[in-house]
Amino acid sequence: MTDRLTVSGIAVSPDHYIDGRRVESDGKFDLFSPIDRSPLGRISEGTPEQVDQAIAAAQRAFPAWAALSAEERRDHLYRFADEIKARGDAFCTLESTDAGVLLSRMRHGVVPRAMLNLTFFVDHALTLQDRPIETPQATHRVRHDPAGVVAIITPWNAPLMLTTWKLGPALAAGNTVIVKPPEWAPLTCSLLADAADAAGLPPGVLNIVQGTGSVTGAALVSDPRLARISFTGSVPTAKWIAQAAGANLVPCSFELGGKSPFIVLEDADLDGAAATGALMYRNATQVCLAGTRFLVHERIAEDFVERMRGYVENLRIGDPREETTEVGPIIHPRQIEKVKGYVARAAEAGAEVLWGGAPHPAGELYYEPTMLTNVAQDSEIVQSEVFGPVLTLQTFSSDDQAIELANDVDYGLGGVCYGEAAHATAVADRVRTGFIWINSFGIRDLAAPFGGCKRSGIGREGGDWSFEFFCDIKDVVLPKKPFQASFSQR
Ligand code: NAD
Repeated sequence: MTDRLTVSGIAVSPDHYIDGRRVESDGKFDLFSPIDRSPLGRISEGTPEQVDQAIAAAQRAFPAWAALSAEERRDHLYRFADEIKARGDAFCTLESTDAGVLLSRMRHGVVPRAMLNLTFFVDHALTLQDRPIETPQATHRVRHDPAGVVAIITPWNAPLMLTTWKLGPALAAGNTVIVKPPEWAPLTCSLLADAADAAGLPPGVLNIVQGTGSVTGAALVSDPRLARISFTGSVPTAKWIAQAAGANLVPCSFELGGKSPFIVLEDADLDGAAATGALMYRNATQVCLAGTRFLVHERIAEDFVERMRGYVENLRIGDPREETTEVGPIIHPRQIEKVKGYVARAAEAGAEVLWGGAPHPAGELYYEPTMLTNVAQDSEIVQSEVFGPVLTLQTFSSDDQAIELANDVDYGLGGVCYGEAAHATAVADRVRTGFIWINSFGIRDLAAPFGGCKRSGIGREGGDWSFEFFCDIKDVVLPKKPFQASFSQR
């Protein structure tokens, strides 16, 4: 076992958590903070053998965990949530430091949500216990049985939120889990193991194996002992995982990228739309559900642009650990190079910069909030997910045209539509995405479905949908009258 690292004053293990113990690897990878590229330490990189150990531990733990009543699992997960709360400040500091997420967002949004991800789903599991379908012939008792050993793989832009969003229902359903955290931001998942341990979660119920996607992740998703793979990340990785899982017929849930429209109709509250528009730069737009393609009615476009410019000029860009910062860094040099490449190629293709378009002086990994216009619908900048603070603006002259532009991309994750409520609702209904916010942004409820259409994903998470994925659903049929065997009966 390696000594704990001290990251921004917080002690955190650089090792895996397998079968209730910390496990070190000989191989390590270096971790840096996106805030200033300062080294944070060397992290154990999971080998295929360690993935194998984690799956074996999860298999051993499965029968006893699955046999617990929903009420007993509830006690465990409530204790787990309490241990997250006890480490609340540490979670905030670590994810701000290794992923660059705003400290204020961690404190007010992510940590409370991580706790809720555990408590909501285990409470929801109780509501699934008794939903019989009654017919004149029989009672169909619909059981939600645990599926087995589950793999959870998450990206770097929201590691704590996304990991607990999957972990809550997976554990509540009675599965045991192996988490493969993102290699650019693994620290809050490591702290999650401390919280689980302190909560007394039985060994093997939650295992965390750190490492790169190509070695650790690939070994995990290729294993035939898995019952489910729940993945959030990019489309190319999902295609790879689908092939590996397909070889073993392991069901996958995919939450993938987005290129969501932000529609501003002629009758919109322009100031409200402009203020919400500036919010799209939060987390340097490394947010899958952000509206990144602005589609604005041509008659109000100039007015809207000037209002949004006013909000964007006032954004505070810098160290995400400062309480007042609104836009932090981009995660990694490779990611900022991608962002610069997109802007350069868009400019070559004739895009006009409305604001931004260059690195920001706050540091090596900071980029100005950027808006590009004069972009063609079939251009790379309109069709591809940048995952950085670069938005596009196009105009339209009719609802039909707005909807056509909104739908003419391969992605279909989310959307925003500003306009008079009935008008905006009518337009929103015709946009082909998994969700869309009318005159608002980011309102979520854990009981509601979340996920994408087209290349943005397969399946839905949230409420019943999470349990449909993480459970084996079984119909136990009890006839109401003595059964008469007959060859003519269907
Ligand atoms: P990524 O696909 O590169 O990596 C995601 C995770 O997959 C990481 O943990 C990585 O190590 C792992 N991985 C990579 N190759 C693997 C392999 N061969 N086998 C198994 N695991 C492998 O994505 P990223 O760059 O970390 O994250 C950004 C992407 O995530 C964006 O496309 C973004 O839109 C998407 N995202 C989607 C949602 C959503 O809910 N729809 C939420 C957040 C992020």
